[in-house]
Amino acid sequence: MNMNVVRIKGDGIGPEIVTEASKVLEAVCKKYGHTINFTDILMGGCSIDAYGVPLTDEAIETAKAADAVLMGSIGGNTSTSPWYKLEPSKRPEAGLLKIRKALGLFANLRPALLYKELYKACPLKEETAEKGFDMLIMRELTGGLYFGARETKEVDGQMVATDTLTYSESEIRRITIKAFEVAMKRRKSVISVDKANVLDSSRLWRKIVEEVAKDYPEVKYEHMLVDNCAMQLVKNPAQFDVVLTENMFGDILSDEASMITGSIGMLPSASLNDTKFGLYEPSGGSAPDIAGKGIANPIATILSASMMLRYTFDLDKEADAIDNAVKKVLEEGYRTIDIMPTDGDTSAVTQVGTAKMGDLIAERV
Ligand code: NAD
Repeated sequence: MNMNVVRIKGDGIGPEIVTEASKVLEAVCKKYGHTINFTDILMGGCSIDAYGVPLTDEAIETAKAADAVLMGSIGGNTSTSPWYKLEPSKRPEAGLLKIRKALGLFANLRPALLYKELYKACPLKEETAEKGFDMLIMRELTGGLYFGARETKEVDGQMVATDTLTYSESEIRRITIKAFEVAMKRRKSVISVDKANVLDSSRLWRKIVEEVAKDYPEVKYEHMLVDNCAMQLVKNPAQFDVVLTENMFGDILSDEASMITGSIGMLPSASLNDTKFGLYEPSGGSAPDIAGKGIANPIATILSASMMLRYTFDLDKEADAIDNAVKKVLEEGYRTIDIMPTDGDTSAVTQVGTAKMGDLIAERV
């Protein structure tokens, strides 16, 4: 297969971690007989410095013409960087909002996986953490409360603020189809999270989920109320495979799910539209505090590259090769500084930097 991938290295640790993910992708291509062409575009602070805007229209067109986008991270120190003296529409993050909109990315996938070797970093009770978990939060990204009409006005002598939560059948259907498609590539289970005991939008959500589910008889599904889901995530996270939910619930639950893994440098993500196109990036930011030191953990970006192979290119075997190589280096005791044991016992592990971690994973693909 020939893959055309646009890279956005971005700011801070972005260039360091994207370099390692590229190294691993090239190793996969070599082993399995594929070719990959990278085209780099600027986004974020580096684009502001070069062109005065966080993302140019030409860069968007280049991204649209590719099969997928692999991104590092954008932004700088929000207190000290001159980028944050600009008006909000010119700041680094505006580039991210612009590209998501231009590419129609409505489905956000955030896996949260607790590796056996790292379970001590998990803040949950030991007997829960020991069991491990491997879930994926599928969050609707372009509808719901964050995009509905809002207003603040005076009514009867006091201020009243209103936000509107709207979902159409088609918006619910397309994200539900994505969730069931992704479940088919995983353990074939979907838990759809809503607040159907109170909200009309959730009752419509349930109805559409039930309709879509009929097309996926192999996938087991159930509905769960969002308050219960928040509790279950800390009580029994092993029960979850794909968690499907609307925008605001997904925003909150995906942060909760990532927190219980205990390590931001390990968490990939993907944003998809209704074609095979996707934007793949680590869940963390540009980490300006450690940029240029060669110590950033590249694993989240490497796992984002694995998601790209799985969801854009349907190369499941190749994606498994990356996921297994990551597991192997962890089993062998290699750690970047952010995932070193916190109990002081470093006898069973070896600390490595960003490039070495990339090399070790590429060698084991
Ligand atoms: P951050 O995720 O960059 O950093 C939080 C902490 O986690 C820091 O201590 C950092 O060193 C550490 N960390 C993050 N990724 C790491 C990795 N791969 N390896 C080791 N340690 C890692 O969050 P922040 O400090 O709140 O934000 C910094 C900048 O990143 C801001 O400008 C913010 O707007 C931006 N940001 C960008 C994205 C994105 O590009 N999608 C996402 C979140 C934040």
